[in-house]
Amino acid sequence: MEFATQCLHAGYEPKNGEPGALPLVQSTTFKYDSTAEVAALFDLKANGFFYSRLANPTVDAVERKLAALEGGVGAILTSSGQAASFIALMNLCRAGDHIVASATIYGGVINLIAVTMKRFGIEVTLVDQNLSNDELSSYFRPNTKALYAETIANPSAQVLDLTRMADLAHAHGVPLIVDNTFATPYLCRPIEFGADIVVHSTSKYLDGHALGLGGAIVDSGKFNWSAHQDKFPEFSEPDESYHGCVYTEAFGPAAYIVKARAQLIRDLGCLQSPHNAFYLNQGLETLALRMPQYCQNAQAVAQFLAQHPKVDQVFYPGLACSPEQQRAQKYLPRGCSGVLSFTLKAAAATAQAPEAGRALAARVIDRLQLIALKVHVADIKSIVMHPASTSHRQLSAEQLAAAGVSPTLIRLSVGLEAVGDLIADLEQALSQL
Ligand SMILES: *Cc1c(COP(=O)(O)O)cnc(C)c1O
Repeated sequence: MEFATQCLHAGYEPKNGEPGALPLVQSTTFKYDSTAEVAALFDLKANGFFYSRLANPTVDAVERKLAALEGGVGAILTSSGQAASFIALMNLCRAGDHIVASATIYGGVINLIAVTMKRFGIEVTLVDQNLSNDELSSYFRPNTKALYAETIANPSAQVLDLTRMADLAHAHGVPLIVDNTFATPYLCRPIEFGADIVVHSTSKYLDGHALGLGGAIVDSGKFNWSAHQDKFPEFSEPDESYHGCVYTEAFGPAAYIVKARAQLIRDLGCLQSPHNAFYLNQGLETLALRMPQYCQNAQAVAQFLAQHPKVDQVFYPGLACSPEQQRAQKYLPRGCSGVLSFTLKAAAATAQAPEAGRALAARVIDRLQLIALKVHVADIKSIVMHPASTSHRQLSAEQLAAAGVSPTLIRLSVGLEAVGDLIADLEQALSQL
């Protein structure tokens, strides 16, 4: 099946007389006739549902759809993107371990890794993903367990050099985890470029209508856990919390994703709710139709901003002047998604006075009428945000600079409105500066 067909049909194939639409199975429990059947389910020896903290038919169908769309062997839907990142990493790390992550990743994930996971005894080194291989290699340690980055960084819109990063991670015996939220599998399938694990905030383009919070982890099934048993013993040694199950033996290429569910989803309880998975499925059905329009609208808005006298810099990989364009052509041939950011002129003067820069950005944002100020991104409606005072507020000045978040930086999530209306709104707000 081609991508657009998978969006509609993967994961749920109704049999004779069954509902044509994916049913919402709003039930925590599932009834069985014998204790032997339930025991086999608990031993992971039979397939079936027993409690919606671990798996649910609606969630399962959408997991299968997303795994198909990303080209993975399995997926888990989580209650949020944050939960997906946390589980994806905790399935690899324990106290005393270390992660290498790009400094341009989403501020919430930086906080998760650098503050909360640090309390768990896990360290992170945030790196400039555009450094040379030698420089990047110097940050890996014997206890490093993962390299973590975003296909298109939020909000700087840097495009990840996926094959180079995958080779780098593999040279150090660790998986590459890629947050593919902004690209979605329609624009880029990181697994095809060597990523081992893909994570998502499904709250964004995948749900697509800003209805349900959620996240996802997709396993490529390609990382050889047994070959790196020294680093990842939990994959090929018996799990006493699961009756001595050896994940690589029992589940082969799906070892990672089964272990994540059996241990962490079970213990932490952050599977996506059936209701949110039902909404997510609605969004996924039209993903292949929506994404090209986001790209087209954002390209037009980026070009409008790039020639505007009040605008200093526009960060959008689809612009001919973007240093990211070459990489975008390789990894994002169908378009560069709908999120862009820009800074305002006078940025030089405000470099010493961040407060003045923030105030300037606020004047533009507060004057926008159609483009709404909301703490969200990748919605069907256009959204404006000021990262320095919201999503990245908790970061230090150095972290902000490393993440490419300057005081006047305005992030625009271009929606599916008629693009002329969006440009008119930006024009009236900027002209009043
Ligand atoms: C929003 C976002 C997250 C966090 O997802 P939530 O669903 O809000 O928890 C992670 N990564 C990226 C790139 C995001 O945009």
